[in-house]
Amino acid sequence: MKPVGEPEIRGSFVNCSKGEARRINLPRNLPELPWADLDFLGWRDPGALDRGYLVVERNGELAGVTLRVAQEVRRSFTKSTVCSICVTPHSGTGVALFVAPRVGAAGRQGNTVGTYICADLACSLYMRGVKRTDSGVRFEETLTLEERIGRAVSNLEGFLDKVFDGDVRSA
Ligand SMILES: [Zn+2]
Repeated sequence: MKPVGEPEIRGSFVNCSKGEARRINLPRNLPELPWADLDFLGWRDPGALDRGYLVVERNGELAGVTLRVAQEVRRSFTKSTVCSICVTPHSGTGVALFVAPRVGAAGRQGNTVGTYICADLACSLYMRGVKRTDSGVRFEETLTLEERIGRAVSNLEGFLDKVFDGDVRSA
Protein backbone atom coordinates (compact mmCIF):
# COMPACT_ATOMS: atom_id res chain seq x y z
CA MET A 1 0.00 0.00 0.00
CA LYS A 2 1.12 3.56 -0.39
CA PRO A 3 2.48 5.23 2.74
CA VAL A 4 -0.09 7.07 4.83
CA GLY A 5 0.43 9.59 7.60
CA GLU A 6 -1.08 10.16 11.00
CA PRO A 7 -3.97 12.49 9.98
CA GLU A 8 -5.13 10.09 7.26
CA ILE A 9 -4.96 7.15 9.64
CA ARG A 10 -6.83 8.90 12.44
CA GLY A 11 -9.43 10.16 9.98
CA SER A 12 -10.03 6.69 8.53
CA PHE A 13 -11.60 4.95 11.51
CA VAL A 14 -15.15 3.85 10.79
CA ASN A 15 -16.21 1.99 13.92
CA CYS A 16 -15.25 4.25 16.81
CA SER A 17 -15.89 7.84 17.86
CA LYS A 18 -13.72 10.70 16.60
CA GLY A 19 -12.49 11.19 20.17
CA GLU A 20 -11.44 7.57 20.39
CA ALA A 21 -9.69 7.80 17.00
CA ARG A 22 -7.69 10.79 18.25
CA ARG A 23 -6.42 8.81 21.23
CA ILE A 24 -5.36 5.67 19.37
CA ASN A 25 -1.68 4.84 19.77
CA LEU A 26 -0.27 4.65 16.25
CA PRO A 27 2.68 2.47 15.23
CA ARG A 28 6.03 4.03 16.00
CA ASN A 29 8.15 5.22 13.08
CA LEU A 30 5.26 5.38 10.63
CA PRO A 31 7.42 6.70 7.76
CA GLU A 32 9.83 3.80 8.15
CA LEU A 33 7.27 1.00 7.96
CA PRO A 34 7.87 -1.42 5.06
CA TRP A 35 4.95 0.04 3.10
CA ALA A 36 5.89 -1.68 -0.16
CA ASP A 37 5.43 -5.05 1.57
CA LEU A 38 2.12 -4.15 3.23
CA ASP A 39 -1.24 -5.06 1.76
CA PHE A 40 -2.85 -3.31 4.70
CA LEU A 41 -1.65 -1.65 7.89
CA GLY A 42 -2.24 -3.66 11.03
CA TRP A 43 -0.82 -3.14 14.51
CA ARG A 44 -1.37 -3.95 18.16
CA ASP A 45 -1.79 -0.99 20.50
CA PRO A 46 1.53 -0.53 22.32
CA GLY A 47 -0.35 1.02 25.26
CA ALA A 48 -3.42 -1.24 25.46
CA LEU A 49 -2.45 -4.78 24.71
CA ASP A 50 -5.96 -6.13 24.12
CA ARG A 51 -6.46 -3.71 21.25
CA GLY A 52 -5.47 -3.82 17.62
CA TYR A 53 -6.16 -1.83 14.48
CA LEU A 54 -6.46 -2.40 10.75
CA VAL A 55 -6.24 0.31 8.12
CA VAL A 56 -7.24 -0.92 4.68
CA GLU A 57 -7.85 0.62 1.27
CA ARG A 58 -11.50 -0.04 0.51
CA ASN A 59 -13.37 1.29 -2.53
CA GLY A 60 -10.56 3.78 -3.09
CA GLU A 61 -10.66 5.12 0.46
CA LEU A 62 -8.89 4.25 3.68
CA ALA A 63 -11.00 2.38 6.21
CA GLY A 64 -9.67 2.00 9.74
CA VAL A 65 -11.17 -0.62 12.04
CA THR A 66 -10.63 -0.95 15.78
CA LEU A 67 -10.29 -4.48 17.13
CA ARG A 68 -10.27 -5.99 20.56
CA VAL A 69 -8.87 -9.38 21.50
CA ALA A 70 -11.78 -11.55 22.60
CA GLN A 71 -11.55 -13.37 25.90
CA GLU A 72 -12.27 -16.72 24.45
CA VAL A 73 -12.90 -19.99 26.10
CA ARG A 74 -9.65 -21.91 25.92
CA ARG A 75 -9.67 -24.04 22.85
CA SER A 76 -8.52 -27.60 22.84
CA PHE A 77 -4.78 -27.89 22.35
CA THR A 78 -4.61 -28.11 18.65
CA LYS A 79 -1.17 -28.18 17.14
CA SER A 80 -1.59 -25.05 15.09
CA THR A 81 -4.09 -22.37 14.25
CA VAL A 82 -4.55 -20.68 10.92
CA CYS A 83 -5.11 -16.97 10.32
CA SER A 84 -8.41 -16.49 8.52
CA ILE A 85 -7.01 -13.59 6.50
CA CYS A 86 -3.61 -14.76 5.21
CA VAL A 87 -4.01 -18.50 6.01
CA THR A 88 -0.62 -18.61 7.76
CA PRO A 89 -0.46 -21.41 10.36
CA HIS A 90 0.79 -20.48 13.83
CA SER A 91 1.26 -22.22 17.15
CA GLY A 92 -1.38 -21.47 19.80
CA THR A 93 -0.71 -17.84 20.65
CA GLY A 94 0.33 -16.74 17.17
CA VAL A 95 -3.31 -16.29 16.18
CA ALA A 96 -5.86 -14.34 18.21
CA LEU A 97 -9.61 -13.99 18.02
CA PHE A 98 -10.26 -10.32 17.29
CA VAL A 99 -13.67 -8.69 17.45
CA ALA A 100 -14.61 -5.42 15.75
CA PRO A 101 -17.64 -3.28 16.63
CA ARG A 102 -19.89 -2.96 13.59
CA VAL A 103 -20.11 0.44 11.92
CA GLY A 104 -22.94 2.71 13.04
CA ALA A 105 -25.82 2.08 15.40
CA ALA A 106 -25.30 -1.68 15.49
CA GLY A 107 -21.78 -1.23 16.83
CA ARG A 108 -22.86 1.31 19.40
CA GLN A 109 -25.35 -1.26 20.65
CA GLY A 110 -22.48 -3.70 21.17
CA ASN A 111 -22.83 -5.70 17.96
CA THR A 112 -19.44 -7.07 16.91
CA VAL A 113 -17.89 -9.27 14.23
CA GLY A 114 -15.07 -11.66 15.12
CA THR A 115 -12.36 -13.44 13.21
CA TYR A 116 -9.01 -15.17 13.81
CA ILE A 117 -6.05 -13.10 12.61
CA CYS A 118 -2.27 -13.30 13.10
CA ALA A 119 -1.87 -11.96 16.65
CA ASP A 120 0.54 -9.20 15.54
CA LEU A 121 -1.63 -8.37 12.49
CA ALA A 122 1.45 -8.71 10.28
CA CYS A 123 -0.18 -10.98 7.66
CA SER A 124 1.53 -9.15 4.78
CA LEU A 125 4.97 -9.91 6.21
CA TYR A 126 4.25 -13.60 6.92
CA MET A 127 3.05 -14.11 3.36
CA ARG A 128 6.25 -12.60 1.99
CA GLY A 129 8.47 -14.56 4.38
CA VAL A 130 9.75 -11.30 5.94
CA LYS A 131 8.43 -12.56 9.29
CA ARG A 132 8.50 -16.19 10.29
CA THR A 133 6.15 -18.01 12.62
CA ASP A 134 7.26 -20.10 15.57
CA SER A 135 4.87 -22.89 14.70
CA GLY A 136 7.45 -25.04 12.99
CA VAL A 137 4.66 -26.14 10.71
CA ARG A 138 5.79 -26.88 7.21
CA PHE A 139 3.00 -25.55 5.10
CA GLU A 140 3.78 -25.70 1.45
CA GLU A 141 1.15 -24.02 -0.63
CA THR A 142 0.87 -24.40 -4.35
CA LEU A 143 -0.34 -20.82 -4.69
CA THR A 144 2.03 -18.12 -5.85
CA LEU A 145 2.68 -15.13 -3.63
CA GLU A 146 0.42 -13.03 -5.86
CA GLU A 147 -2.37 -15.57 -5.44
CA ARG A 148 -1.92 -15.69 -1.67
CA ILE A 149 -2.03 -11.90 -1.48
CA GLY A 150 -5.16 -11.84 -3.63
CA ARG A 151 -6.79 -14.39 -1.33
CA ALA A 152 -5.82 -12.44 1.80
CA VAL A 153 -7.17 -9.19 0.35
CA SER A 154 -10.43 -10.88 -0.54
CA ASN A 155 -10.66 -12.50 2.93
CA LEU A 156 -10.08 -9.10 4.49
CA GLU A 157 -12.73 -7.53 2.26
CA GLY A 158 -15.17 -10.19 3.42
CA PHE A 159 -14.41 -9.33 7.04
CA LEU A 160 -14.80 -5.60 6.37
CA ASP A 161 -18.10 -6.22 4.58
CA LYS A 162 -19.38 -7.76 7.80
CA VAL A 163 -18.08 -4.82 9.86
CA PHE A 164 -19.88 -2.42 7.49
CA ASP A 165 -23.00 -4.59 7.25
CA GLY A 166 -26.15 -2.57 7.85
CA ASP A 167 -24.39 0.78 7.58
CA VAL A 168 -26.06 3.10 5.08
CA ARG A 169 -22.74 4.62 3.99
CA SER A 170 -21.59 1.30 2.55
CA ALA A 171 -24.69 0.96 0.35
ZN1 LIG B 1 -2.57 -13.44 9.02
